[in-house]
Amino acid sequence: MASLKLYALHCGGDMMDMALFDPFDPDTGTKVYNPYFMYVVTHPDGNLLFDSGAHPDLRTDPRSRLGDASADFELRLRPQDHIEQRLGAIGLMPRDIDVVVQSHLHFDHAGGLGWLTHAPILVQREELAFARKPPVYQELIYVQTDYGMDLDWRELEGDHDVFGDGRVNVIPTPGHTKGHQSLLVRLDRECVFLLADAAYLLAKMRSRSLPGILWSPDAVIASWDRIEEIERSERARLITTHALDYETSVKMAPDGWYE
Ligand SMILES: [Zn+2]
Repeated sequence: MASLKLYALHCGGDMMDMALFDPFDPDTGTKVYNPYFMYVVTHPDGNLLFDSGAHPDLRTDPRSRLGDASADFELRLRPQDHIEQRLGAIGLMPRDIDVVVQSHLHFDHAGGLGWLTHAPILVQREELAFARKPPVYQELIYVQTDYGMDLDWRELEGDHDVFGDGRVNVIPTPGHTKGHQSLLVRLDRECVFLLADAAYLLAKMRSRSLPGILWSPDAVIASWDRIEEIERSERARLITTHALDYETSVKMAPDGWYE
């Protein structure tokens, strides 16, 4: 069996009100550090990047990308959160990425695409349409310049087996956005389900407490049902991008990885 590894690359974050995670949380009104992540799966047939982090200019000149809305975001980006440096931490360059899967196209996930113009970008057809013409309530978090350049889009409609061997699978998990998707990775020793923003916090998913940003509550709940079904059948480890306890719950690269 071919050997796969999964690296979780922490790439900055922002200070966010607890209301984002659950508008009815008793700690609403308190700001918490909301981490960002990108992930690399090394497969014998190629290196896959799942999400691409926030654009590095958000560190130096957030206004250039977020406009007037930049004042609403307390970004916490470090020089080393640049996609080149994040990949460099595990010995890769953007050129070494053979295929990109974008969970969705919000600015904290899609800011690295400008470094990935050589690679096919797998996204749900619904997501691309949604991102190009976002509804007014998500307009601020879709930054058109993140994905407006010439990219090799591969528009998916439903599940997709990336390498054709059942090891790395795109699973649609709409709700947060219209075309959100997650990534199920069958590693050698365990199965990891990268949820991205299909859920922000696992505890909130378990209690079916809806987050502050979403497209459809019904789709969120249906995706949570499907995620838990897959969790049971695959005995999968669930990882969300914005886990507040990431320092203890996520094995972070370069010191840690999943295999
Ligand atoms: Zn996010």
